[in-house]
Amino acid sequence: MHELRFDQDLCRGCSTQECLTKCQYMEIDRETAQKEIPKIARGEDSFVLHECATCYACEEYCTSGNHPFYLIVEKQEARGISPVPRPLIQRAVNIGIPFRGRPEIEEINGPVLNIGAFSELKDLIQGKLFEGITPISTDERKMFHYFCQLMYLHYGKDSVIKERLPGIIETIARHRPTEVVCFHDECYGAYTSYCEAHGIAVPFRPVHFYEYLYNRLVELKDMIRPLNLKAAYQRPCSSRLSPDKHRFVGRIFDLIGVEGVKREFVDENALCCAGAIEGQKQEGSRKRAAMQQQKNVEDMKKAGAEVCVFNCPACFQTLGGIVARNGIRPIHMSDLCRLAVGETPAGWR
Ligand code: SF4
Ligand code: SF4
Repeated sequence: MHELRFDQDLCRGCSTQECLTKCQYMEIDRETAQKEIPKIARGEDSFVLHECATCYACEEYCTSGNHPFYLIVEKQEARGISPVPRPLIQRAVNIGIPFRGRPEIEEINGPVLNIGAFSELKDLIQGKLFEGITPISTDERKMFHYFCQLMYLHYGKDSVIKERLPGIIETIARHRPTEVVCFHDECYGAYTSYCEAHGIAVPFRPVHFYEYLYNRLVELKDMIRPLNLKAAYQRPCSSRLSPDKHRFVGRIFDLIGVEGVKREFVDENALCCAGAIEGQKQEGSRKRAAMQQQKNVEDMKKAGAEVCVFNCPACFQTLGGIVARNGIRPIHMSDLCRLAVGETPAGWR
């Protein structure tokens, strides 16, 4: 059930093997990649299964539409290779259980905004930008009914996603939404990339949060006052599942008078927040994560960033304090957009 669609013929005819040769966390040349990819696909052991930082980026690097990262996670689980210590995995799997009883669902028959399991962040969806759209997961007692579960890719637990995600989709569909705006990249990636790769039906139209914000800003353009800020953008790992939507970062910045600073670790070359690496069980993981975070923040400083813009709440939690200690203000993209239309988000002066 819900078998991954991974095409080994595409790999045989692939002239680049960029899924692995572009990996920023392992040094892999083309010759090695040519050997390791078929081994992984055949279900054999590979150092890649043990050393993968779960940054999701190879999903973007493969331009043939194959799914190398989903393949890695599936084979990690099949071979009993867990990227993080097992007690942590069990705890995480228990936290995200979606179905304790069947929730009562209100039919909306209009656009809905799914904030996923981040009900504590409902302040981020206040104000003019969110007029006319109904939030569906702001009740903390019910938020896990809307949790897309893709986080378990970091834990080598693909089976948990396959088991729970169809039920989550059914819950959302019972609202009868005309479209579902996904606050978090990971939810959007779940309902588009992951479901497509695994043959899971999605009976509603998912909309990326940035596409929604951009379109609302265009509607409110007479209210926009340019912010004249220099910004670094912290690209979340799950943005690699929808690289075609990443362009909205630049389009939003242009619309609200924000300059995206020119730096090394940007766009395809972005470094993840390293939150997932911190928790990995390989020796030296914490040090490795701290070094990466410092490298990332130094790059932002060198480029002259005044603010660091986040979408993912987990990236904000991992990196927000570090950027602040380095003199760069962390801010969520939605709050940045609210500033541009004359609103002052909580905690911003
Ligand atoms: S997964 Fe994609 S990039 Fe990697 S070898 Fe196969 S086709 Fe090439
Ligand atoms: S997920 Fe990231 S670390 Fe793992 S193989 Fe792909 S690019 Fe490398």
